[in-house]
Amino acid sequence: MAQAEVGDDVLDGDPTVRALEQRAAEWAGREAALFVPSGTMANQLAIGTWTRPGEVMLAEASAHVLLYEAGAAGALHGLQTLPVRGTGGVMALSEVERVWQETDLHTPGVSLVCVEQTHMSSGGRVQPLAELERLYAWAHGRGARVHMDGARLANAVVASGIDARDWAAQADSVSVCLSKGLGAPVGSLLIADGDAIERALRLRKRLGGGMRQAGFLAAAGLVALEEGLPRLAEDHALARSLAERLSALDGVHCDPESVETNIVTVELVHPERDPQAVASELEAAGVRALLFPPNILRFVTHRDVGPSDAERCAAAMARILTN
Ligand SMILES: *Cc1c(COP(=O)(O)O)cnc(C)c1O
Repeated sequence: MAQAEVGDDVLDGDPTVRALEQRAAEWAGREAALFVPSGTMANQLAIGTWTRPGEVMLAEASAHVLLYEAGAAGALHGLQTLPVRGTGGVMALSEVERVWQETDLHTPGVSLVCVEQTHMSSGGRVQPLAELERLYAWAHGRGARVHMDGARLANAVVASGIDARDWAAQADSVSVCLSKGLGAPVGSLLIADGDAIERALRLRKRLGGGMRQAGFLAAAGLVALEEGLPRLAEDHALARSLAERLSALDGVHCDPESVETNIVTVELVHPERDPQAVASELEAAGVRALLFPPNILRFVTHRDVGPSDAERCAAAMARILTN
């Protein structure tokens, strides 16, 4: 990072940022990419690029773009949002058809469908390509665009063996996080065709996302794509083995079969243990897990944890739940 060649990405470009953008665009088989500080900004640039105020964005009910981006779709872009409940993150086409409205004098039309790959709230599940393509074709047939929140797309690529190009081919835009499992300290990318990225660039400027000397960060992003990506298989195997250990404990519901990537979600059903207390005791034992109230505990495997850490985590859970 310290040796990266840098420039002014707000003015006339930063060579290392440009190299990262080019590499990411190639990876996803698209014309262009844009480096941004966060996944939220990548998603919001896409949303702002594809919509106008008063229109509707449709997404799965527990999607990051609906629940975890501080209401940006409404606050920044004047959109109405239409949540559709899915199974394992997958929205049934029949349900999308049921709630879809065309634009007319009375009704705001759906102009954007957002899908999430992998789907975070369902525990990092991979949405099947055929399902997504059916949804894309349906949306495109009605004049709507499709954005893939691919914050964890690299995990889907590794888990499925399907290329990023194939996942990205039918979507109008894709966002990717470098700072999740890929292991870079900072940064995300929006990937799309050239004219969409031109519009997103102006929005990025408007939101204050243009950065000088960002090549220091992009240098780590290049390493993340090169070395972080193939390493994800280790995280997935470790998550599965952690899930197997946790599923054997009393007071826990956990289905190892549902662990497809690097996220392990467990439901705490112990009659006497308060989930918040379990999370606090875990933290005191040196294991950080995120509690989704009331009782879902999420563990994530990544480049900084290994088999002995998973062992320690399972042992701590066993101790806390039997005390
Ligand atoms: C992490 C994540 C994002 C982006 O979050 P930031 O914190 O803004 O980087 C977007 N979507 C999903 C599904 C995520 O997991």
